[in-house]
Amino acid sequence: MFDALYLDKPESGFAATRRRLSDEELLAATPDADVTVRIEYSTLNYKDALAITNRSPVVRRWPMVPGIDGAGVVESSSNPAFAAGERVILNGWGVGETHWGCLAQRARLKAGWLVAMPPELDARRAMSIGTAGYTAMLCVMMLERHGVAPAQGEILVTGAAGGVGSVAIALLARLGFRVVASTGRASEADYLRALGAAEVIDRAALSAPGKPLQKERWAGVVDAVGSHTLANACAQTQYRGTVTACGLAQGMDFPATVAPFILRGVRLIGVDSVMCPQEDRREAWTRLARELDPAQIERITTVVGLDDALRLAPELLDGKVRGRVAVDPNR
Ligand code: NDP
Repeated sequence: MFDALYLDKPESGFAATRRRLSDEELLAATPDADVTVRIEYSTLNYKDALAITNRSPVVRRWPMVPGIDGAGVVESSSNPAFAAGERVILNGWGVGETHWGCLAQRARLKAGWLVAMPPELDARRAMSIGTAGYTAMLCVMMLERHGVAPAQGEILVTGAAGGVGSVAIALLARLGFRVVASTGRASEADYLRALGAAEVIDRAALSAPGKPLQKERWAGVVDAVGSHTLANACAQTQYRGTVTACGLAQGMDFPATVAPFILRGVRLIGVDSVMCPQEDRREAWTRLARELDPAQIERITTVVGLDDALRLAPELLDGKVRGRVAVDPNR
């Protein structure tokens, strides 16, 4: 038996609870998995919060164990790629959406989804980074691949006090960029500066409808917010600058014109972490292990238990949770 969060949608309505589940139930729910992992830490991401609150249709199969992220030790494996005792990280691939996930003490996963834990990391630190941090690293890699370098100017990070934003600031500052953090929480200005933001701006300056072309400012953008914020970020990006779009905290819409793209050659790069190929994942995790200051990860992270994850999910969606939430399933 093991503890897990359990989402179900019987006729009586949606329910999210903590439960004891049996290994037989796990096996029956995951017949195509080939690696059993003892989860040491999971996390609470924006998508997990959507699943746990049922605010948007993240879960595609019922019942579901949520948890798009997990880190732990392989207990058993029928795939030669991983052996018992190896430490692994799991992010995405539909886990916690269509396949039972990692907000649990045990998960059965596919070997092809797993990344070997870099030696510099342990499960707690890996899950303090989580999908939000790994996505922030994918955004940074995309900026670099499109030639954005510190000498070219400032980088805008939106949704700054959230998970993606916090890790993006810490990474970019460490790489020598001048980072401007956009937040709705003026009270978090000191936190954002401690992560490495050179300047903190009010997100209201970006979140209302704006002109198609505005004064050129950003060499690059990491946007976790979408909607008017993304449209304004594109309109303020320098000639041939790069905007990475990974989130929708303000909205899924993109009320923009093509002007920044056809008149300034601005590049808009979409970033997806869920189905991202293994090559990019391994590069992202190797770099996260080496380039993120462990003290900054600690600053960003709150560690909670499974019950707290249920409690915190609506607060996270309301933008009230700072940084990252790592979940210890043994609490
Ligand atoms: P968080 O909830 O931790 O952070 C989101 C932040 O967005 C909030 O902290 C807040 O920052 C800001 N925000 C919230 N509501 C609004 C609003 N109405 N208008 C403007 N800003 C707002 O989430 P994550 O950082 O984990 O994820 C951010 C986004 O990225 C989510 O939409 C998530 O779904 C997406 N995502 C996408 C991935 C991918 O593969 N593409 C992977 C991971 C995440 P502040 O208080 O500083 O303003």
